[in-house]
Amino acid sequence: MHRKINFNAGPAALPAEVLQQAADAVREYNNTGLSILELPHRGREFAAIVRESNALVLELCGLDDRYEVLWLQGGGRMQFCMVPMNFLPENGSAGYIDSGRWAEEALEYATHYGDVQVLATSKESNYSRLPQWPTTIPDQLSYVHFTTNNTIFGTQWHTVPRINVPMVADMSSDIFSRVHDYSKYALFYAAVQKNLGTPGTALVVIRKDMPGRIVRELPSMLSYKAHADEHSILNTANVFGVYVSLLMLRWTKEKGIAAIDKENRQKAKILYDALDHSTKFVPHVQEKSHRSMMNVCFTAISPDVEKSFLILCEKNNITGIKGHRFVGGFRVSLYNAVTVSDVERLVELMKDFETN
Ligand SMILES: *Cc1c(COP(=O)(O)O)cnc(C)c1O
Repeated sequence: MHRKINFNAGPAALPAEVLQQAADAVREYNNTGLSILELPHRGREFAAIVRESNALVLELCGLDDRYEVLWLQGGGRMQFCMVPMNFLPENGSAGYIDSGRWAEEALEYATHYGDVQVLATSKESNYSRLPQWPTTIPDQLSYVHFTTNNTIFGTQWHTVPRINVPMVADMSSDIFSRVHDYSKYALFYAAVQKNLGTPGTALVVIRKDMPGRIVRELPSMLSYKAHADEHSILNTANVFGVYVSLLMLRWTKEKGIAAIDKENRQKAKILYDALDHSTKFVPHVQEKSHRSMMNVCFTAISPDVEKSFLILCEKNNITGIKGHRFVGGFRVSLYNAVTVSDVERLVELMKDFETN
């Protein structure tokens, strides 16, 4: 196979060695005489996979056993439901920070369960910047939800204050991408198909006092407490999905978060520098301190320019750069598995394109 340079926003690029290990496990998992696709979810092997994955998540986040790690199904959006179902009382309020389409969708889901206060929004700018972080957070809020990286619009919170009510973060598109203080959160979650594996699975990390705050009776599949009590095998687990995440966690640990952080900054700088000096492309986010290191959005100066650059990229084996329909233009996702040389190749092509 001739592998493409993959800048897709999700499902996203995975490292070649992780793909190889996953393929090997599909043939046979660890001398069991079974494929990973056939492995019993209540067996010894899968229990070991979950145990190692949980330990690696806590280690990479710098957290201890005051937090519980869960592997759930239903991707990111199921967490948009579970957070308010579990923690927003019918007569209570939750605060949401509306910094992009995912943030907005999360708050729309929450309105089914209780009152939602929009503490800040940048919708009026088509999310081309971050909103101002709220100066005060009302004490009576059950929690505040925000999105650390806005995948569609290419903005990212580079500083996150500690707040006085439980803070919930959607970290789907930047988990493990940088040195970060995860101890600020009561709960954080990530759909894993960006920096951490294959679609359909969500990683949830929850402080152990939180299930005690659950506000309504729920069917067990929707209850964090029930999943925690059953150690992520309440029903047939997504065995393969969790295993690929374990491979990604091992890969992440081997590189080290500090090295990944440094490389991600370098990748983003190469691309933003090119855009800031471009005659044919315009970055979507002008405010440099709001720019995402993970998703770089930009437009072309005309539809013709846009079209011919897309064609040029496809010809050169580069895929996944078409922008989301809410922004148009281009979006280049620079997740952990994307290399510096992948970005250099793209920028080289942009520069050639501009001089022709
Ligand atoms: C990708 C993404 C999601 C959605 O995940 P699904 O698994 O498609 O539901 C949610 N939030 C953010 C920030 C994302 O980037």
